Amino acid sequence: MARYTGPVCRLCRREGEKLYLKGERCYTDKCAFVRRPYPPGQHGQVRSKTSEYGLQLREKQKVRRIYGVLERQFRRYFELAEKKPGITGENFLKILESRLDNVVYRLGFATSRNEARQLVLHGHVQVNGRKVNIPSYLVSVGDEIEIREKSKNNKRMKEIKEIHANYTAPSWLESDIENLSGKVLAEPKREEIEIPIEEHLIVEFYSR
Ligand code: SF4
Repeated sequence: MARYTGPVCRLCRREGEKLYLKGERCYTDKCAFVRRPYPPGQHGQVRSKTSEYGLQLREKQKVRRIYGVLERQFRRYFELAEKKPGITGENFLKILESRLDNVVYRLGFATSRNEARQLVLHGHVQVNGRKVNIPSYLVSVGDEIEIREKSKNNKRMKEIKEIHANYTAPSWLESDIENLSGKVLAEPKREEIEIPIEEHLIVEFYSR
């Protein structure tokens, strides 16, 4: 399963905003974007004009990086969103939010989507009582997601319970941090995506 394995702080600096890809570190003054808030590379501090296409491309790349999805799958999600009734941009974001790795993150069982992805890949997560180790698995309303019994007492999960003792999940999810279990109550809500996203730019990008 392919994924980006390069330095992730570079991605925030490239997109010009914090994408919160590193968990706890993102909330400290060690954050690379706080220390160097300009694009990486030799010409990072040179100002340049951005074309319409450039804006669309950057927004697309930003969202792709937030959710940790490679281009081919990202485009596939877009095609799926186009086929659904309703607004394509919203459908698209809802599909991304429904990915199991994102749901594990949004339930508060990990401090970043990357960490959630590792939890899923390493078989620590079950859906409706069965182990699922596919981060791109799309959850449905009614699904019950839980950290597997044998993983609940590992060191990291104990830390997560402390870090997220007061965590509040988005309203479409029900999260029980103490038991590391949760449920999908409804479809993801567009307005509860925490990072500002202009999805119309992505629709325009793929509609060129
Ligand atoms: Fe981005 Fe987090 Fe790295 Fe800051 S620490 S640059 S928010 S990934």
